[in-house]
Amino acid sequence: MDIGREIDRLKKERAAVILAHNYTAPEIQDIADFVGDSLELSRKAAACRAPVIVFCGVKFMAETAKILSPEAVVLHPNPNSGCPMADMADSAAVAAYRKAHPDTVIVAYVNTTAATKTHVDICCTSGNAEKVIASIPKEKRILFLPDANLGRNLAKKLNRPMELWPGFCPTHNRILPEWIAAARAAHPGATVLVHPECLPATVALADRALSTGGMLKFVRESAETEFVIGTETGILYRMKKENPEKKFYPLEPEPICPNMKKITLEDVLFALQDLSPRIELDPETIALARIPIDRMLEVRP
Ligand code: SF4
Repeated sequence: MDIGREIDRLKKERAAVILAHNYTAPEIQDIADFVGDSLELSRKAAACRAPVIVFCGVKFMAETAKILSPEAVVLHPNPNSGCPMADMADSAAVAAYRKAHPDTVIVAYVNTTAATKTHVDICCTSGNAEKVIASIPKEKRILFLPDANLGRNLAKKLNRPMELWPGFCPTHNRILPEWIAAARAAHPGATVLVHPECLPATVALADRALSTGGMLKFVRESAETEFVIGTETGILYRMKKENPEKKFYPLEPEPICPNMKKITLEDVLFALQDLSPRIELDPETIALARIPIDRMLEVRP
């Protein structure tokens, strides 16, 4: 059986749409109807009228699709594909903070569980975090969660003090400044792009810190032809595909998120065959978690 063809056939039969994150494996990106970063996928899910959404990314992303399209059957082909950073902001701990600090604006990176989103004021992604924070009145105290690196990088760039939750992305947090120095030595003419989930010391050595969507736009529009990419290496597949005349180098050792690689073609096939595993959220969680996501989507892109 040609698995790609069978997925295509079932996708049509189910009137399903397949969304995939930029970090997923190449073969998953190839069968997706849309590949993007968290913000792009959130917008796509919100606009999506498909009765079935197959979400190839980590669990919080599939939950976000369910929150934005509650009528749709949202399939998460491998339920073991979670995000350790999202799990670092436990919903009970965030609820306790909320109770103790009712006047603090809680800004939650979209990398949070649906349960945690029910206790926060506004969400953001790495693609729109600067605009989201700029939309909050200056006199307000902010708690940023769960990624302390992203929070620290934003606070510095925007000159806006923020309280930071002690979370981190295991994949980006281990990208050391020395890796950037080694990549510059190996590729002296290349522009170095890193993700703002990296350590501030790593970001300081890069040419730019951009979301994955921002990186894709930058390399497409840049007159430069060589780039060192400091984020999960899944994105290099799309960069090379979209810019065959340009050169892209990963950092060494390659930053790989094992969770983003857990979803296989077989998982997608079985999910379409069985319409399972599904993301199930109770109506109250959907209603409450939608508020901070809608506030984020209302901020001018
Ligand atoms: S790359 Fe980091 S933030 Fe993204 S899913 Fe993996 S662990 Fe979570």
